[in-house]
Amino acid sequence: MTAPRNCDLIIKNGCLLTMDERRAIIARGAVAVAGHTIAAAGPEKDILRDWQSKNVIDAKGAIVHPGYVDAHLHVNAQTCRGFFRGDASKAGAAGPNYADWKATLTAEDENAAAGLAGVEMLRHGITTFVEPGSAFEPDAVAAATQAIGIRCTLAEPYLWDTTDTMDVIPGLASKSLFARVPPERDRCLKLLGSQLFRNRDKDGIVHGHVALYGEGTASDELYVAAKKLADREGVILNNHVGFDLDLAAAMERVWGKPRFIHLAEIGVLGPNTTFVHMNLIRDEEVEPIIKSQLSIVWCPVAYVSRGTPLRQPTRIPEMKKRGVNVALGTDSARQSSAGDAGFLALQLAGGAGHAMVSEDIFEMMTVGGARAAGLQHLIGSLEPGKRADIVIRSTHAAELMPSIDPVHQDEADVFAKAQASVHRIISRLGLSLPGLWPRAQAA
Ligand SMILES: [Zn+2]
Repeated sequence: MTAPRNCDLIIKNGCLLTMDERRAIIARGAVAVAGHTIAAAGPEKDILRDWQSKNVIDAKGAIVHPGYVDAHLHVNAQTCRGFFRGDASKAGAAGPNYADWKATLTAEDENAAAGLAGVEMLRHGITTFVEPGSAFEPDAVAAATQAIGIRCTLAEPYLWDTTDTMDVIPGLASKSLFARVPPERDRCLKLLGSQLFRNRDKDGIVHGHVALYGEGTASDELYVAAKKLADREGVILNNHVGFDLDLAAAMERVWGKPRFIHLAEIGVLGPNTTFVHMNLIRDEEVEPIIKSQLSIVWCPVAYVSRGTPLRQPTRIPEMKKRGVNVALGTDSARQSSAGDAGFLALQLAGGAGHAMVSEDIFEMMTVGGARAAGLQHLIGSLEPGKRADIVIRSTHAAELMPSIDPVHQDEADVFAKAQASVHRIISRLGLSLPGLWPRAQAA
């Protein structure tokens, strides 16, 4: 028998949701971590036989799962939650234009916003997010996320070179925003890929990818240049498409055909391309979408917040059933918190006629998100070689109990116990309230 090997951390006594290819769940599992990396994950008896460490966390039966991925978060919007009323993208409501607000953000603002967002994400078990090329000062975001210890991938802000369709979304365009990040091809071609230096640090938690703003703001030339670069550098090309239904129609007018037919024709679809929103998918687009193996990032809060379901039922659950990789994103946490997407997606899928189960949502938030972020070699599952982005989710937290609905199982017993519990607290405080909890007293 060989002696156990040393590692830096062991998490034992956890229920492992591995998200490996078999989606194995190990009821009494353990994970061995060496440096930043998972050295082994498996049944506890095997791990404790093969590995030893001075640092052992007893998960006490908690669920241990790979950290969630928020595959689309405009992190600098964190500080304007609740400020913009109505649909900020249409600029219909009173108050400042959202684009003007964005254009005033300083490095300090973005650093603070990323810090706040990071704390909120960690609270929900999100350990990675994709900033889709909208932070003006990527260094400020990188500094905040490093300080907090949350993984992210960044891109250059606002790579766009045509604004022909932007009158449809006046809240997302303004003179001041165009002055700060001019929609000019030369600027974009110069900046394209300049966040990729972050990938050189193989142990780093801040990565870089290629992003275009999208939604009809990129010429074919810019799209093709971005896709070529993403292919060469082994990263994703990330962009918005289909947030606004009117904008989708405007793009079809400019391109003279459904958008994914055009994008397939110019050769910019592939397994390393990630399209965000996809609120409109036409019948003739289904085949190029499936064939290309692209990733979809679904942002359910953004989809619902503008009444889009009333105009266009989502087809994303259907796409997932047909084998398309789907991730979940917050978009911007202006009217929600980062972490609300999963539950809403579950509700919406049923309404769209393609019911999902929790396992589908879990898949989208882990392996699906990892692939959409272009980080599938690093995160998304608890497997040897992946980074130790691990969440230990206590099953003793109040919000996780009970896992069944005991109120309808054994009503009298539950009420009696609850009353007894209150009664104990009251006695501990030295109070006496006779007659208030007759059933508990009788028990
Ligand atoms: Zn977005």
